[in-house]
Amino acid sequence: MVIAVYPGSFDPATYGHLDVIKRASISFDKVVVGVLHNSSKSPLFSVEERVNILREATKEIPNVDIKRFEGLSVNFARENNAQVIVRGLRAVTDFEYELQMAQTNRVLAPDIDTVFMTTSLEYAYLSSTIMKEVALFGGDLDKFAPPAITNAVLAKLHGSAKKL
Ligand code: ADP
Repeated sequence: MVIAVYPGSFDPATYGHLDVIKRASISFDKVVVGVLHNSSKSPLFSVEERVNILREATKEIPNVDIKRFEGLSVNFARENNAQVIVRGLRAVTDFEYELQMAQTNRVLAPDIDTVFMTTSLEYAYLSSTIMKEVALFGGDLDKFAPPAITNAVLAKLHGSAKKL
């Protein structure tokens, strides 16, 4: 049984994240998505909200679990008996940081491998930050995330769930 963890901030999840989760759920027996609670960052959504958003968006995939975590991804992997850490790779801009993280994690935990999923082309440009910026200035969010998530972003930023 190969268990993978997929750690990240997911503030909030986008179609890019959901695509990685779906594809990882096919390649691995179980995928545990780790939603990072980092007390030195101030995310738009609380860790509980980010967990709930992801639970709702992935409820149809039986071998996916959503959990919050703090600290190192390798510790989160160990706690969940995972052999693999999944990360998504979009462009070269992701590469340097992701390579450094993967190598650091290998030093910390040589028994855990990092597996990269290359982004699907239609989501290559997409990040939570971009989605929030477009939302702030009133752009159309339909291509970025499912309606439940984009409505939550609009409600947070503008105090109502009105559709633009
Ligand atoms: P972090 O703060 O750990 O980078 P993110 O929530 O931004 O957390 O991203 C989590 C993971 O998902 C990262 O590996 C990131 O590269 C990947 N990711 C983010 N957006 C996309 C996307 N559009 N396509 C594929 N992977 C993505």
